[in-house]
Amino acid sequence: MRIAIIGDGISGLHLALRLQQLDIDVTLFGAKAPEAVRNGRALNFVARSGGTRRREELLGLDLWASPDTLAEARTVTVHGPEPLTFRADPDPAYSMVDFRLYLPVLVEEYVARGGRHLVTPLTARTAHDAAGDHDLVVVAGGRAAGELFPRDPERSPFDAPQRVLCGGLYRGIGESVPHSIEFHVMPGVGEVLRMPFHCADGHVDVLGLEAVPGGPLDPLCRTPYDADPAHFHSVVLDALHRYVPDLRERVDERAFALNRPADLVQGGVVPVVRRAWRALTDTTYALAVGDAWIVNDPITAQGANLGSHCALEVAEAIAAGPPYDDAFCRAAEERMRPYAESVVQWTAAFLRPPTPQLLELFRAADADPSVAAAFATNFDDPPAMWHSIAAPERTAAFLAHVRSRSEGPDASDSSVPLPSSASAAAGTPRTPQWADLTARPS
Ligand SMILES: Cc1cc2nc3c(=O)[nH]c(=O)nc-3n(C[C@H](O)[C@H](O)[C@H](O)COP(=O)(O)OP(=O)(O)OC[C@H]3O[C@@H](n4cnc5c(N)ncnc54)[C@H](O)[C@@H]3O)c2cc1C
Repeated sequence: MRIAIIGDGISGLHLALRLQQLDIDVTLFGAKAPEAVRNGRALNFVARSGGTRRREELLGLDLWASPDTLAEARTVTVHGPEPLTFRADPDPAYSMVDFRLYLPVLVEEYVARGGRHLVTPLTARTAHDAAGDHDLVVVAGGRAAGELFPRDPERSPFDAPQRVLCGGLYRGIGESVPHSIEFHVMPGVGEVLRMPFHCADGHVDVLGLEAVPGGPLDPLCRTPYDADPAHFHSVVLDALHRYVPDLRERVDERAFALNRPADLVQGGVVPVVRRAWRALTDTTYALAVGDAWIVNDPITAQGANLGSHCALEVAEAIAAGPPYDDAFCRAAEERMRPYAESVVQWTAAFLRPPTPQLLELFRAADADPSVAAAFATNFDDPPAMWHSIAAPERTAAFLAHVRSRSEGPDASDSSVPLPSSASAAAGTPRTPQWADLTARPS
């Protein structure tokens, strides 16, 4: 069997590396040579979760283990009339490495292990050509490549960007907690994220502003950098002063600057869920993974981690053997769906004004470290996260369970058992649940 993978981001690479391990004939197509990726613009700032790091271990990747590249702590602060702050540390730590370093190293590792990597950007037409030589085409080419697959209106929670992003790599920002991610929520305004990051120039900080469109932070996020860098820096500092004064106080004005002009990402993503597969020819099918299938707003830091998760699910499905027909594609989609659906729902919930149960959960985490720890654990377990915030009674059950465990004999286990599948956990039939979400005003 011969598998073509179009796209050499994290989704395509994790899939290619796994298929290679399983001795399956695979060709990986990319749009750029590794050197061009290294020297290119930042496209994202990815925190790789414990789950992704475990998959990397399975793939035999031993990457950037030094403490400087890890985030071991996380603070969540809600600003506004009822301010609160709590620690929700990731365990294991997140790996914070620029994808302009990470992806080329993975390509080189795959090639060093004997893999075929062709720098040939495939179009819809050439994807059909690839189909001629392969038994299955996996499309992992990111957001743009997703256009091969129609949008699924029932499952797509939004049809426009829900945040205006202005994220960059900066120098001159101090941490209140060492090696920490800090996440600030300003209801109605947006979010501010600061996290340590390892890039080609060494240690920097990601500073991400996420503005609610039309809100007071929106115009600041659209301020251009190139025309007047000094003005841009002063706009960012003013925003910090106004919305996150504690963070502003930790900025050393003499050192504060964007690391490089190419280290800035501005714009917005449209969260979208697409059909996961389609026929390319009478006998060959294309299956989408990663952003080609589902695009999430970065607010929950899940897109790349979801792509990695789905890549390994698809690898196991492929390893079970042909035929790679419509039944195979449907089964592969069902395999990826519960986890992916939880990410989409959870991310949509964080993009909307906070629900009463989410605020209740935050207040409980503020008051009780065992709740904060369970909330932190759920960042790496999207079905559990969505289960804990989907409805007031589920949040109440989650809190009751965590508290009973923390008072009980085995106080160290804060995990909460879930029903056997995420859709069972959601407790309502799948389609109406998604339809409800899309019907709600955003
Ligand atoms: C500002 C920002 C911050 C983010 N932070 C996080 C985070 O903290 N954690 C997280 O998990 N996610 C995060 N994300 C989301 C994450 O970046 C994406 O979900 C993830 O990179 C998707 O990976 P992918 O491999 O599916 O697609 P991509 O990363 O888009 O990779 C696709 C690859 O395919 C190649 N390609 C494209 N078209 C073709 C073609 N026609 N032929 C051949 N090759 C092609 C591209 O060159 C690229 O290398 C963030 C996103 C943004 C914008």
